Amino acid sequence: MAPPHRITAAAAIAVAALVLAGAVLSMLDWRIPAPSFGRDYVLRTELPEATAVDLPAVAGTGDDRRPLVVIDPGHGGHDPGASGQGLQEKTLVLELARALRDELIEQGGLRVALTREDDRYLLLEERFEIARRLDADLFLSIHADSAGESSEVAGASIYTLSNQASSEAARRFAERENASDRINGQDLSGQSDSVSAILVELSQRRTQGQSDAFARLIEREGEGSLRFHPQARRAAALKVLRAPDVPSVLFESGFITNEREAQRLSSAEGRQRFAEVMARAIRIYFARSGELTAGAGE
Ligand code: ZN
Repeated sequence: MAPPHRITAAAAIAVAALVLAGAVLSMLDWRIPAPSFGRDYVLRTELPEATAVDLPAVAGTGDDRRPLVVIDPGHGGHDPGASGQGLQEKTLVLELARALRDELIEQGGLRVALTREDDRYLLLEERFEIARRLDADLFLSIHADSAGESSEVAGASIYTLSNQASSEAARRFAERENASDRINGQDLSGQSDSVSAILVELSQRRTQGQSDAFARLIEREGEGSLRFHPQARRAAALKVLRAPDVPSVLFESGFITNEREAQRLSSAEGRQRFAEVMARAIRIYFARSGELTAGAGE
């Protein structure tokens, strides 16, 4: 514990005067004339291009016919996410993601990539765009929750995209990507607008069904070993789940504002338990869709 800062009355008045002067000036003229060019300074925000993001390395079997899981540890960099019990979500979920990756690699037969492997910030669009560009078969975003002062609230939740958000995403994707993109390996550039829209809508609906199936498997496989929130299955308009052609689920692993849950999620055993449950759900998901055995007999 550091001693509290002391601000003298004089310093406080000086700061207040400066703030006030700044506010008055900004009301009078918020543009600051640039003396040498006679033009006003323009405040510009550089928007990062979603496509400029580096693709992460793919680990696991070198056989690219094997299914690829993209694991997305939420937040990162200047965005710590939730905090509680001395923990930060961005760090906790990165460790959960690494544990799951290691478990999947150890079991073999799959390929795995993480959207971030260190403490960096990624836009939500960049996260699912990585999955799309790697041609991933499954996308899992991992988060942890905070309940503010309500330290009793605990339990994991599994999110999929809500139906309304799903059709909105399809419409937006069709509008935006129409002439320049592919969906499920199909080139949209030769298609009319209405055919493109239908292809995207169909793809999104199929993806939605697969996402729901994977969410159900997580719940089923986690029963008895993970602690779920009483209302564990949820649908929401989450941007990170909007890839129209990669089944996507967001897993809120628990509340780090709850002491026991925070301890469990940040312990080696807790991470291992999470990794085993999730790896099992992923393997069953692919076994059902036939992708885990595809190419194995050749
Ligand atoms: Zn989060």
